[in-house]
Amino acid sequence: MNSKPKIVVLGAGYAGLKTTKELTKLFTPEEADIILVNKHNYHYESTWLHEVAAGTINPNQARFMISDVINPNRVRLIYDLVEKVDTENQRVVLENGELTYDYLVFALGFETNTFGIKGMAENAFSIVDIESSRLIREHIELKFAQYNNNPESKESDLTILVGGAGFTGIEFVGELAERVPQLCKKYDIDRRKVRIINVEAMPSILPMFDKDLVEYAKKSLADRGVEFRLGTAINECTEDSFIVGDDNEEIKAGTIVWTGGVTGSSVLGESGFELTRGKVTVNSDLRAPGFDNVFVLGDCAWVMDEEAGRPFPPTAQAAMQHADICARNVKSLVHGGPLEDFVFHDRGTVASLGVTDGIGSVFDGKPLKGKAAAAMKKVVDNRSVFLLGGTKTLLKKGKFRPF
Ligand code: FAD
Ligand code: NAD
Repeated sequence: MNSKPKIVVLGAGYAGLKTTKELTKLFTPEEADIILVNKHNYHYESTWLHEVAAGTINPNQARFMISDVINPNRVRLIYDLVEKVDTENQRVVLENGELTYDYLVFALGFETNTFGIKGMAENAFSIVDIESSRLIREHIELKFAQYNNNPESKESDLTILVGGAGFTGIEFVGELAERVPQLCKKYDIDRRKVRIINVEAMPSILPMFDKDLVEYAKKSLADRGVEFRLGTAINECTEDSFIVGDDNEEIKAGTIVWTGGVTGSSVLGESGFELTRGKVTVNSDLRAPGFDNVFVLGDCAWVMDEEAGRPFPPTAQAAMQHADICARNVKSLVHGGPLEDFVFHDRGTVASLGVTDGIGSVFDGKPLKGKAAAAMKKVVDNRSVFLLGGTKTLLKKGKFRPF
């Protein structure tokens, strides 16, 4: 190894961007070269993508330029697609080149998991990044714009079908409940013709919340026109429908969005890492087993919650906490010193139900609902922009509109 180590960070999401920021604080330019690779020249707030997809915020609000928050004179920024990591030769293969590393931070985030459901990958939209979310927004708007202009229009063209009532599905239908009345007004369509249907295999939505909060969320969304089909498994997705339940009922729609699950970046598999459900079961110091110089963070990491006997859910909150530990551990590896174990500090969870409503459990389990939860969600969203982008970015992109 050279006297000056080369630290390569893959991905400028919550985990990768925060790690890079922390590394620039922990190392002087003389001590280490830091390189950040990301497929776009911008970071996006994945946690706002349901709003982009529904059209309740502008896609540009959910992203900011990486070079605005990371000094390119300090960190080498490479905008390229990571295809594979060759761990044997400490080499990263990019679409347009390659680079070597002494220390690697793998933080390429999540991809959609369709669990092999027939037709789902081919026919349904997914909320994964800015582009896929913007496509959903445009598709929905096109369906509304076409409705009164095409003699062959069917009422089901105005149906929006959402598969999965986890956090993403529920937050998305909450935004749709806000957006649909605006679109009806814009395109002279009777609101009663539009259906938002959320299909979920389990008997309940968001099982991690108290029953009272779940009932509140269901009623709030149902009052605003969201129809739930709970305890109904989706067996297949066709071009214009879901096939659901034991009797293979067909539900037709003009827009179909799958929010039924996520997994880690497929680059992990391409690179030969051993996987647990698409992720790397990391050691307690967040290193990949068998590799002293490779950290795996965020949604690519399977981090066990030993107390609960299951992995921690993949969240932005956890990804940013991984980043802090990882940066300090890289410093210990370079300078010598003990590595820290990752300990998750749970700051609570909030799910939005549209712009002005939500449910949450914060401050050691205190339940929140309604406007208080929606306000808390905006605080959380703004905090993340501040931590990654600083005050200037927060003032440009933050959510400050009163409601
Ligand atoms: P990501 O944020 O996915 O970042 C990965 C980065 O890597 C991206 O910049 C991507 O462009 C880049 N990349 C990917 N593949 C490649 C490649 N091959 N080459 C180069 N670059 C690549 N969590 C919460 O804690 N709170 C919430 O309120 C919340 N809301 C959410 C709402 C939605 C709609 C969704 C989908 C998720 C939400 N989550 C929330 C979960 C959270 O977004 C993820 O856990 C988090 O994004 C994981 O961070 P990450 O850094 O691992 O990956
Ligand atoms: P998820 O795995 O949490 O939920 C997917 C849902 O789809 C589940 O309820 C599952 O039962 C359902 N489903 C799966 N297969 C199905 C089928 N064949 N038919 C019908 N329903 C089916 O996925 P998600 O909502 O995308 O969330 C991913 C992660 O991101 C979670 O860990 C979550 O913690 C995090 N997240 C957090 C927030 C927040 O904190 N506000 C928001 C969004 C996502």
